[in-house]
Amino acid sequence: MSKTQKLQFVHTPHPSPLPADQRAELLKNPGFGRVFTDHMVTIRYHESKGWHDARVEPRAPIPMDPAAAVLHYAQEVFEGLKAYRTADGGATLFRPIENARRFQKSAERLAMPSLPEELFIESCDKLVSIDRAWIPDGDGSLYLRPFMFANEVFLGVKPSSDYLYLVIASSVGAYFKGDSPAVSVWVSDDYTRAAPGGTGAAKCGGNYAASLLAQAEATQHKCDQVVFLDAVERKWIEELGGMNVFFVFDDGSMVTPPLGGTILPGITRNSLLTLARDKGITVREERYSIQQWKADAASGKLREAFACGTAAVLTPIGTVRSKDGEFRIGNGSPGQRTEELKAALVGIQRGKAADPHKWIHRVF
Ligand SMILES: *Cc1c(COP(=O)(O)O)cnc(C)c1O
Repeated sequence: MSKTQKLQFVHTPHPSPLPADQRAELLKNPGFGRVFTDHMVTIRYHESKGWHDARVEPRAPIPMDPAAAVLHYAQEVFEGLKAYRTADGGATLFRPIENARRFQKSAERLAMPSLPEELFIESCDKLVSIDRAWIPDGDGSLYLRPFMFANEVFLGVKPSSDYLYLVIASSVGAYFKGDSPAVSVWVSDDYTRAAPGGTGAAKCGGNYAASLLAQAEATQHKCDQVVFLDAVERKWIEELGGMNVFFVFDDGSMVTPPLGGTILPGITRNSLLTLARDKGITVREERYSIQQWKADAASGKLREAFACGTAAVLTPIGTVRSKDGEFRIGNGSPGQRTEELKAALVGIQRGKAADPHKWIHRVF
């Protein structure tokens, strides 16, 4: 795609979209990631043509050759962001430019082509606009999943010459099942998520594939999520399988592990750093060890811990379990700081609070 020639999307409306009453039934209790909208975006890339053939089409299976490179070597990256319904019947996205930029960085790490930021945002806007009836009311939202994969039919190991970029959308309610106010986390001893020089900072499917066994171990130990330690010293807390983590201390200060290539640079994490500093809260991006976490939880120095990400927003951590036993944080109910920051973030995302940092992007 040349800079002067804008890629035009060809829109093919769904010939038989789901009837309104059936859609309303699905939206009553959508859960997470199972209810999909009527349409999807596709844009193709070939090394000789660049980005081309942009479409919004009825959502459907994608024909694939069994030798498509992604199926063998996992050259794939993705994003996740939410569209919210506004009080006046419109729709907004939260900091989509940050998702667009991170998508480019993830692609770069996986030796994939860079999708222009405008095209990323336009693709999201188009899908939200066309499938607007699927944005749930109340606490729900429309979760957008832009992704791109290697589509060259070739079993040699090299960056693919062909890629397919898609955006699909899923109506979502609350992320965690069950009504426990705080989650339990399992400290993985045997497995790590990311090593220095690896792909930990890229949002790629392979990172998730590598985390599933540890997540299964967490489930076996009756924990909701796994918390990963660093791959070198096996002592520093990095993040959960798909969420960043924050700690709140008795003096009011907070700590979150520093970015350094092995942690996914969450947009929620970044937004919370800004919101906390706006409130005059001291937040250090500093390494924090599992031993210190345990000691501080025992002494009362640590007051709260929470995980954060787009899908689950802010989720308090109530119990930390490992091979050496378990410890609790607070009294198992969400802490005051966790609630305060969640309210501040959700207030902006939902258009109920002022937006001093211009984070809200209006779709329509
Ligand atoms: C997506 C993701 C996060 C959270 O990022 P947000 O931009 O806040 O949604 C955290 N950790 C991992 C591993 C992720 O993939």
